[in-house]
Amino acid sequence: MGRKFFVGGNWKCNGTVDDVKKIVATLNAGDIPSTDVVEVVVSPPFVFLTTVKSELRSEIQVAAQNCWVKKGGAFTGEVSAEMLANLGVPWVILGHSERRALLGETNEFVGEKVAYALSQGLKVIACVGETLEQREAGTTMEVVAAQTQAIADKISSWDNVVLAYEPVWAIGTGKVASPAQAQEVHAGLRKWFAEKVSADVSASTRIIYGGSVSGSNCKELAGQTDVDGFLVGGASLKPEFIDIIKAAE
Ligand code: PEP
Repeated sequence: MGRKFFVGGNWKCNGTVDDVKKIVATLNAGDIPSTDVVEVVVSPPFVFLTTVKSELRSEIQVAAQNCWVKKGGAFTGEVSAEMLANLGVPWVILGHSERRALLGETNEFVGEKVAYALSQGLKVIACVGETLEQREAGTTMEVVAAQTQAIADKISSWDNVVLAYEPVWAIGTGKVASPAQAQEVHAGLRKWFAEKVSADVSASTRIIYGGSVSGSNCKELAGQTDVDGFLVGGASLKPEFIDIIKAAE
């Protein structure tokens, strides 16, 4: 089964109203490949989601950067999956390493979030990745397999999930994984899917790479057999995001 190239832009907690207007104008004017070739999803902070969704060209979709783990209610400061679905926001990023590290989101909690978001009709970009200490200890595959297993334990279909492999040591550091390092983990995850879930899920689930992806390193990474796209942080706020989208060609 063909896996369409996927490029996500995670704007994180950045931007003013003016910045957002400029980014949207750049994306709307950019010469990007057709939706037959690449699926592009940008993820502004919650407060800008509806504006970006309404002003952005129709080929580019939007994602929230998080949502609550279950049905909304008395959870001050949270945004529920059903609110996102109600607004017509199709995607949500869950399990980003910044939330795991800074807000204590555990593997199990992320698994529950993914399951609830899917149950509300959202599509999920689910993030996994090892720290530098874990890589140096030789436990990378063990760590990403445990994070993925915690999601698999809670969901019955991977159809609406894109798995983002984001080594923590590469996020926002300028230290991108080498194409060989990325390919090794992506291939390991695909093997894990084949052994633990199914051959179909292994063949069809998109595994994208995130961590200091830029206009200059994206082509070589995109050339790896099991790299099906990118989740881009810092560079998604800049015009070079267009070049990264073009790596799909
Ligand atoms: C991210 O935050 O998901 C990310 C990959 O960030 P950056 O591209 O800035 O490393």
